[in-house]
Amino acid sequence: MKKFKHIIGALGMLSLLMVVLTACGTRPSLAKQDVLSNDKASKTITWGVKADTQLFGLMDVKDNQIKGFDADIATALTKKVLGKDAKAKFVQVTSQTRIPLLKNGNIDAIIATMTITPEREKQVDFTDSYFDAGQALLVKKGSSIKSVKDLNKSGTKVIGVTGANSVANIKKFAPKAQVLELSDYAQAMTALKSGQGVALTTDNGILYGMAAQNKGYEVVGGTFTKEPYGIAVNKGQEPLKKELNKALKEIEADGTYNKILKKWFGNVSGFNYKEAAR
Ligand code: GLU
Repeated sequence: MKKFKHIIGALGMLSLLMVVLTACGTRPSLAKQDVLSNDKASKTITWGVKADTQLFGLMDVKDNQIKGFDADIATALTKKVLGKDAKAKFVQVTSQTRIPLLKNGNIDAIIATMTITPEREKQVDFTDSYFDAGQALLVKKGSSIKSVKDLNKSGTKVIGVTGANSVANIKKFAPKAQVLELSDYAQAMTALKSGQGVALTTDNGILYGMAAQNKGYEVVGGTFTKEPYGIAVNKGQEPLKKELNKALKEIEADGTYNKILKKWFGNVSGFNYKEAAR
């Protein structure tokens, strides 16, 4: 009996030691894990996509699926990188949550209308650009606001989304305007409709989608910035980035990219689908 107690005691100590060792980091930290190898094993890439953004990533309440250009590109890339039977898993992100969710390891990559900027490049790595957008304005039809210059008056309220670089851009292009920041594009559109601002500002592609859904509104003023979209991965994940860049080239070469572009933008008035084709 005494011997038995010793064995139990020893086993207890051993498991305690294992818990302590695990907590001390005997397992590689998230930053050191190779995301591509994990994804190959699970045959899944977990993507951060928008669920509030017309045409790029929008939640379809009928079947609870996120649908849009970004979502379709993510699915096509997943199949190129991991094989036809692989799965693209979507996690909903906003402009504000996308980088923290990537850093925490909740997602493997961000494909969410995200511009490649030098500030962001300090925190994450980007693939080559896969879409060229530019910042524009959405206003009520008949509005006196015709371009970004018209916003540069004190007391003028402009609506934007937190975490979008569009907010910082407005501060540069129309420094006198006051920017009202909402947490996602659905709320931003509601704020525009209820007259909380005279214009909603973000990328033209997103705004065209909103204009198509809200007939009394139009995109004005052309584009006043260049917004090349990239896929973001964590720093230190070169193998995944390399595979995604290779897959991007493949979907451009085999026509998949243009098929997806046509599906979402082929009939969008104001958007030059032919010019954007690759
Ligand atoms: N492309 C811009 C950005 O990355 C605006 C669109 C967005 O909010 O995602 O901030």
